[in-house]
Amino acid sequence: MTLRRFYAPTAAFDIANARATLDAAEARHLKDVLRLRIGDEVLVFDGEGHEFKARIEEILAQKIRLHLLEEAPPSSPESPVEITLALALLKGEKLDLVIQKATELGISKVVLFTSEHADVKVRTTADGLQRVDRLERIALEAAKQSGRAKVPVIEGPFTLQELLSTTTVAHRLLFSERDGEPLDELTKPREGADIIFVVGPEGGWAESELEAARAAGWTVVTLGGRVLRAETAAIAVLAILQNLFGDLN
Ligand code: SAH
Repeated sequence: MTLRRFYAPTAAFDIANARATLDAAEARHLKDVLRLRIGDEVLVFDGEGHEFKARIEEILAQKIRLHLLEEAPPSSPESPVEITLALALLKGEKLDLVIQKATELGISKVVLFTSEHADVKVRTTADGLQRVDRLERIALEAAKQSGRAKVPVIEGPFTLQELLSTTTVAHRLLFSERDGEPLDELTKPREGADIIFVVGPEGGWAESELEAARAAGWTVVTLGGRVLRAETAAIAVLAILQNLFGDLN
């Protein structure tokens, strides 16, 4: 039988003593839903690429102690290319959808930003942090489900200007429904090099934003055919990039 997978942050691992501790939420799932017992074997991953086979050693009300048996290869491999999605703040459920699907498709990082015609404005820092918190949980669930031992990092929200000027990733693509180049030989990143791609809000880009992107060394790309919703564009572009340069083939 395939072993059940659980998550524990790196701080919950005591590698020297071959131990890891599951928190209350994971503990509840392990004992009340899956009804596992002391002595049963499970997998535990740290969200940063490490996964271990472990045995349940102690079951307490609020936590579970695991004895680590051996490091196991992650259930699913990671893409050879680190791809970052920079996504305009969309309305709640659309953002949730993109984070879930992008995690399944192997995204490394998601950076949120606000722009001139944004669909959602962030009023306070606390508001922004709360959103990121919620999205991190969605990413974790999607990583568990798809067998990834690495959970995508979620950052922001930043302003578009901050994003454009501080990114150091080698290949910087900004997707626009108009005025861009096709994703052809000229705009294709080198094999194996990291990529960041930007998808904007439903409200579209302001002319000045496209200009700022070009001035900061970004390539503006337009996929021929149709105007896509932001969430469709984010998912479709990631699938295309993983197919061309990553591991979706
Ligand atoms: N309101 C705009 C569409 C915005 S689409 C209009 O009606 O024209 C939202 C985002 O999806 C865009 O900012 C872009 O990043 C992406 N997108 C949609 N269709 C695209 C296409 N054909 N090529 C590249 N990017 C696209």
